[in-house]
Amino acid sequence: MKMISIVVPCYNEEEALPYFYDEITKVVKTMKKINFEFLFINDGSKDKTLEVLRTLAQKDKRVRYVSFSRNFGKEAGMYAGLKEAHGDYVAIMDADLQDPPSLLPEMYHAVTEEGYDSAATRRVTRAGEPPIRSFFARCFYKLINRISKADIVDGARDFRLMSRQMVDAILSMTEYNRFSKGIFGWVGFETKWIEFENVERVAGETKWSFWKLFLYSLDGIVAFSTVPLSIAFVMGILFCFIAIAFIVVRTIMFGDPTSGWPSLVCIIFLVSGVQLCCLGIMGQYLSKTYLETKKRPIYIVKETELDHKE
Ligand code: UDP
Ligand code: MG
Repeated sequence: MKMISIVVPCYNEEEALPYFYDEITKVVKTMKKINFEFLFINDGSKDKTLEVLRTLAQKDKRVRYVSFSRNFGKEAGMYAGLKEAHGDYVAIMDADLQDPPSLLPEMYHAVTEEGYDSAATRRVTRAGEPPIRSFFARCFYKLINRISKADIVDGARDFRLMSRQMVDAILSMTEYNRFSKGIFGWVGFETKWIEFENVERVAGETKWSFWKLFLYSLDGIVAFSTVPLSIAFVMGILFCFIAIAFIVVRTIMFGDPTSGWPSLVCIIFLVSGVQLCCLGIMGQYLSKTYLETKKRPIYIVKETELDHKE
């Protein structure tokens, strides 16, 4: 019998977990002749998430959990989940039911019957999300698809079911700065996209502030594109050109009137601004390289369900 592992990263999800567990067990009951394992990753939650998971693991043999020593972020949680999962197929799902478990049978059908390696979901609406957040999200997807080879789909969720082969491919990418939306596309394989309307969280609140999302989008760009590095170069050339064309030619043609203080100050500010900007771009890549070369572990485990079994 085939087994599906369902990986659920959880950070402060004590309120949502009971709903999630109810819902997923209902869906799983309808899928006959398949074994399941529910693998919860407790990403250093500060609430009672771990207690909830311990209780679930005691009453249901299919429930496993891995608890981190601190908050490592959702990316680390997903990596840990893929690594610890035993299933022939692995699904990643949020704990807040924003990824409808009811899509599972359709996803399973796609990978077993229709010859796909993975079935992924994308939401076609962003209802219930602040408009400003949706706007920046759209801009981000446009930009990253322009400047990187990884195919990153707008509205794509991390909710997807993958074959063992694809999971192993993802695990072979051990980079420290993880951006899964890019990694899923980068490894290739055939993916079937299933669309759904956005669903709001059942309980608790979002863990992603605007600032956190902004930094995450920078991670995504730096991890999957080196185009920003050449922006610095292009800007440099452009400014040399402007300097020569504008300043030299102008002086030759119109002489050198001494009253030029404001424009001079403007130029100084502009050029130094561009320089700082370019330095910043360099810094981004340098800092990522620095962290990568340390080869730190992506997560550290403090406790698993095995610690409580005799
Ligand atoms: N999450 C996590 N670690 C974090 C932040 C979030 O494991 O540092 C989990 C969270 O528990 C949830 C999923 O990632 O299961 C998605 O988070 P959330 O619902 O807050 O994000 P949103 O849906 O608002 O983008
Ligand atoms: Mg959510």
